[in-house]
Amino acid sequence: MATAALSAAGVRWDLSDLEPDADAARRDWDELLERARAFAERWRGTVGAEGPDGLRKLLDELDDLNQDGSRVHFYGRAREHTDATDPETNDLATLGRDRAADFENLLLFADLEWVELDDAQADALLASPELEPYAHRLRVAREEKPYVLREPEEQALNARRPAVSAWESLHGRQLATLTVEFDAGDGSRAHTIDELLSYLYVPERETRIGALEALYGGLKPRADVLAASYDALVGDRLSVDRLRGIPEPMLPTNMRNELDGEVVETMLRAVEENYPLARRWFDRKAKLLGVEPFVLADQYAPVGQEAQVEWPQAVEIVEGTLRDFEPRLGDIFRTCLDRGHIDAEPRPGKIGGAYCNAVSARVLPYVLMNYTDNVRDVITLAHEFGHAVHGALALERQTYRSFRTGLAIAEVPSTFTQLLAVERLVEREDDPAARAGVLADRAEQAMAAIFRQTVLARYEQQAYAARAEGKALTAERLGEFWMAANSAYYGDSVQLPDGYGVGWSYIPHFIVARFYTYAYVFAHLVAFSLVAHWRRDPGAFTPAYLDFLASGASKSPQDLLAPLGVDLRDPRAWADAFEEFDRAIREAEEAVDAL
Ligand SMILES: [Zn+2]
Repeated sequence: MATAALSAAGVRWDLSDLEPDADAARRDWDELLERARAFAERWRGTVGAEGPDGLRKLLDELDDLNQDGSRVHFYGRAREHTDATDPETNDLATLGRDRAADFENLLLFADLEWVELDDAQADALLASPELEPYAHRLRVAREEKPYVLREPEEQALNARRPAVSAWESLHGRQLATLTVEFDAGDGSRAHTIDELLSYLYVPERETRIGALEALYGGLKPRADVLAASYDALVGDRLSVDRLRGIPEPMLPTNMRNELDGEVVETMLRAVEENYPLARRWFDRKAKLLGVEPFVLADQYAPVGQEAQVEWPQAVEIVEGTLRDFEPRLGDIFRTCLDRGHIDAEPRPGKIGGAYCNAVSARVLPYVLMNYTDNVRDVITLAHEFGHAVHGALALERQTYRSFRTGLAIAEVPSTFTQLLAVERLVEREDDPAARAGVLADRAEQAMAAIFRQTVLARYEQQAYAARAEGKALTAERLGEFWMAANSAYYGDSVQLPDGYGVGWSYIPHFIVARFYTYAYVFAHLVAFSLVAHWRRDPGAFTPAYLDFLASGASKSPQDLLAPLGVDLRDPRAWADAFEEFDRAIREAEEAVDAL
């Protein structure tokens, strides 16, 4: 990687808002554990027994501890993510993981005792004004009560965690160590999975097709082990569900997202009904590229001209987007940048990808990304700052317990901000080919989030259903489910390559958490609705949106979104979203036609 030439060189984190150095972090861990022990000594056995005042005191103290824990823990992780080669960093990260586990175990009793209270006592406490800032999260915690087992049973389940994670590690190692010989035009060499996938965005068709072929060819010999890992994990999740009395495999995910199974299913069906939108785009793109048939490797082929955007311009675009929407949000961006809370420089020893961590109410969020001077990266910066302003405003108004939402809601502000940034990018771009590139990218990112993730969720449903019936999830069977879910989407518009039957095998979401996938569908659709409402009446929309950000997780998704004009109970809830989605595709088509 030619890092020196990149415009974000030197844009690195300053971690001094977290800790001055590793020694201070070690001392803080010791002190935190002492405080956690004192906390447990003072409060164990008292949850609910000391009235609303006592519980409020306990929760405030716990919030305070957790925020300090978050800061110290993140210091170690932040160093690990940006400087993995430093031996001191690795020691600190190992220490952090151990200490964090001890810390959590010491504090765990509070939540268990809360769930164990009987309903009458809990309801009386929840009705008191003292507990109002914690009420919603406390209520949600109690909803899991029917599925919580007795303490020794829970401990026994916890005790097998390492054995379960071993399957995850095995799966991860199989993928991380996989390299495939491939010649992208500059001589044959070994490629990782990510390197092969990056060729899907190059203009040379042969390279795109060859890279996919190489990928599937490389995965095939490992498909049995990858399937066996997945089979073990799904089997384990389903047997624990049976012990807990969880009736339906999507329920744990839905509970975490605070979404009704019915709302999720209605949404997925609405998405499937709109699959023809994508086929319309594929047909148009096939004509534009002049290819027949249109094959899977053409899906993300570049359209128009890819604009180069240097880091200072990216800063201007994202800060301007936020500031024009609401000056306060622009200020948060500026302060994060000035205080060294953005790490954008790609370099050896730094992890890939991007994320935002809203550390605590006392520390502004930290954002990590790898900026490589293209439009996609500007969108990523905007996305991460959607998370950052959400975290900053929610932490300002909410308790620490009540600020972090489930994944489905969490991805709404990030997606909304990225959509706003696209509008700005399009406005400032005079070159029609570059505009077409930006608009095509917006349409394709929406398809990847809304359509592809629905395909993935349907595939998961089939796998869980089969496993629940006692069928083993072999590579062959998973391949059948995979092809069925994908054919429903691509239809006759996209020719799927030979070997695509192993396409399921390298997707980490299936391994990390079940039905993670639909959160992206939900968030992108909601964000599209919000853009539509914002365009109709920005004056009314903006204050409601800021209030949504500041509400964090203090309300249910339904109550959070209702003031923004999104009624999740309404079967027509998604109509606005699909209209906006259709518009995004139409604008891409028009831009492409004008070339
Ligand atoms: Zn995100």
